Amino acid sequence: MCYPPPTETIVPLPGMYIHCTPQESKLLSVVASRANELGYPCYLIGGFVRDKIMGRPVDDADIVCLGDGIQLAKAVAESFHPKPSLAVFKNFGTAQIKLPAIEIEFVGARKESYQLDSRKPAVEQGTIEDDQNRRDFTINAMAISLNDANYGELVDPFGGMSDIEKKLIRTPLQPEQTFADDPLRMMRAIRFATQLEFTIVPETFQAIQSQAHRLRIVSQERITDELNKIMLCKKPSIGWKLLMDSQLLPLILPQVVDLQGAEYIDGMGHKDNFHHTLQVLDNVAAVSDDLWLRWAALLHDIGKPATKKFEPGHGFTFHGHEVVGARMVPKLFNRLKLPMNEKMKWVQKLVLLHLRPISLTKESITDSAVRRLLFDAGEDIDSLMLLCEADITSKNKVKVKRYLRNFEWVRKRMQEVEETDRLRNWQPPITGEMIMEYFRITPSKQVGIIKDAIREAILDGIIPNEYEAAFRFMQEKGKELQLTAGK
Ligand code: ATP
Ligand code: MG
Repeated sequence: MCYPPPTETIVPLPGMYIHCTPQESKLLSVVASRANELGYPCYLIGGFVRDKIMGRPVDDADIVCLGDGIQLAKAVAESFHPKPSLAVFKNFGTAQIKLPAIEIEFVGARKESYQLDSRKPAVEQGTIEDDQNRRDFTINAMAISLNDANYGELVDPFGGMSDIEKKLIRTPLQPEQTFADDPLRMMRAIRFATQLEFTIVPETFQAIQSQAHRLRIVSQERITDELNKIMLCKKPSIGWKLLMDSQLLPLILPQVVDLQGAEYIDGMGHKDNFHHTLQVLDNVAAVSDDLWLRWAALLHDIGKPATKKFEPGHGFTFHGHEVVGARMVPKLFNRLKLPMNEKMKWVQKLVLLHLRPISLTKESITDSAVRRLLFDAGEDIDSLMLLCEADITSKNKVKVKRYLRNFEWVRKRMQEVEETDRLRNWQPPITGEMIMEYFRITPSKQVGIIKDAIREAILDGIIPNEYEAAFRFMQEKGKELQLTAGK
């Protein structure tokens, strides 16, 4: 872990340098000077130190001082022109400054002790060691001194550096105590394991298993924050597997636990839908950063347990699981306190439609079927295709190749149909208003009948997606319904 000495360095640690941007370097020297003037020993701590050592990008930094963190923050803010925005959280004894590329949080070193029934600690002033003791993991407990006497010295009482090298997540103190004090740390352990692709040491992992039930006292928003961070990792499956193995998942999302398990009857079985789902999730993550597409991947088969049937002589079926699954999405979003807005609707739509492109590869593709899919998926067709391609998880390479080729074919057919029919953001060429005006009728069942008939005729290719043709079709349909033109 040795970087070539760059032009901008602040911390020459034994055997390595830490890269800082000019803005970070300036910030750190300003913090060091102000702390020195106030007589507060002061340290960089936590995620900034970890990420800099690992060469990961950073966008926030934590400064801990032996003194009044708010006062230090105010003095630092005064040193910048223009003065950056400063937020003071008196109750927590913290303050935050926002510079263009980085947010800095200031806090006085503290010692914490917890009551069993709450995660709100009693806080008192402490030493830098006390402050490091209350950190969640060894890799998050390292500090770098900003004091004149030992500027740049790494203060690493728990071997965080060695754990980074060994890629380990470990609590600094007794893990049971650490997790009982603040059960959110169990989620953070799994999130860091997923983000950094580190291993949680057995002692720490066993403590998560034994303390899992304590997650109940953590707010859903904080849990879901961590879930979203897991979702945004390169390989989110790592986190979901750890959530399963640690017994946290039944508390968070039992419906995903229900996906687990393969069953065999008369030699006929079905795949383990938990593992399949995670593979789909990783496949999607490999081609898209979209958080919601990743949620759609996690939930695409969520209706399978409820629809599972064994049909003798035929095997297991999951008929209608996409419909049942789509119906479950709002409840699950609500439970997780994910936004109940158009994002939820979008995920729901993808779950509902996730079998449609596959069905197009099975039958001989008619233009009408392609048109219907384009119409139903609308502008979400590209995301839907990504999900469907990710849904191919067969171990049989020949099969995978064949399926992917089929999807390529579907894409090509869609492109052809799209070029002639422009169905993607389809607006009917004849609106309800036009129908009412032409036949001089008020809103009624007949308007709906004519509108639907026009749509169906276009989707079935009976008439082209054009005004003239649709208008004539409307006239004919009206005649059938014994309507006469108003003029
Ligand atoms: P990221 O910014 O990617 O979420 P981070 O480690 O910087 O990772 P923050 O939430 O920014 O996480 O917290 C900064 C530091 O505060 C952590 O590195 C850790 O030392 C400490 N910390 C944060 N949350 C907890 C917690 N629940 N228990 C103990 N220490 C914590
Ligand atoms: Mg951070």
